[in-house]
Amino acid sequence: MKKIFLILLAMTATIFTISAQYKAPKIIAHRGYHATEGAARNSLNALKAAQQKGYFGSECDINRSADGELLVIHGYWHPNKESGVHVQRNTKAEIQAIKLTSGEVVPTLDEYLAQAKKSKKTKLIIEIKNHATPAIETEVVREIVAKVAAYGLEKRVEYIAFRPWVCTELVKYAPKGTQIAYLNSDYEPEYVKGMGCTGIDYRYRNLVKKPHWIKEAQELGMTVNVWTVNKEEDIRWCIEHGVDYITTDNPVLVEQLIKEMCK
Ligand code: MG
Repeated sequence: MKKIFLILLAMTATIFTISAQYKAPKIIAHRGYHATEGAARNSLNALKAAQQKGYFGSECDINRSADGELLVIHGYWHPNKESGVHVQRNTKAEIQAIKLTSGEVVPTLDEYLAQAKKSKKTKLIIEIKNHATPAIETEVVREIVAKVAAYGLEKRVEYIAFRPWVCTELVKYAPKGTQIAYLNSDYEPEYVKGMGCTGIDYRYRNLVKKPHWIKEAQELGMTVNVWTVNKEEDIRWCIEHGVDYITTDNPVLVEQLIKEMCK
């Protein structure tokens, strides 16, 4: 009798262990791994730190300055709000005159791509920000795609954007097979696939209301990314719901929870 009980107990434990093992999502450091000594959001040191940690991806934001330089900065205002510097209406020199909290200068896309080339592991996830007109956005898309090609990074870069226009221009100008995900959290996966995108990259608080979109997207062969997931309970929800990527300001915590919950 005791033996049967022990066998049943062992079986239950095995089933429980198997059911608690989720597929590990890939970690994307939001604006680089900035929550570390000497780095700031979108700074060169934040990309270097993400590479040192070996994360799957390091996300960055691209804006074009008034004098046509592609810069890695979120905008639309410089993070030093008192400076009153606007990342699309001011020049590169004016933007770079204001230091980041780490003491670094706002990096150019060129500097970022040169650094991205140094890592075989960490991909660069490039977010192309909204610009004033569709025509400007087309130029920005074409310039970024050309730069990525010039650095030989076509297979090491993925794109994300809020504007459907930017996404469809990326579909047109980036090499076939490039990963492009839509950020605005409103369209159902089938529509986003119809735009030519390969994935959805939705805000946590929106996706949580439409969890069926995760399976729907995956069944359409699309990837599911979620931003910006920083709290433990939210990260657990994402892992339990089988998302493919988690974009986070807290990659260390995501790494820890993956270790605990995933095979
Ligand atoms: Mg971004």
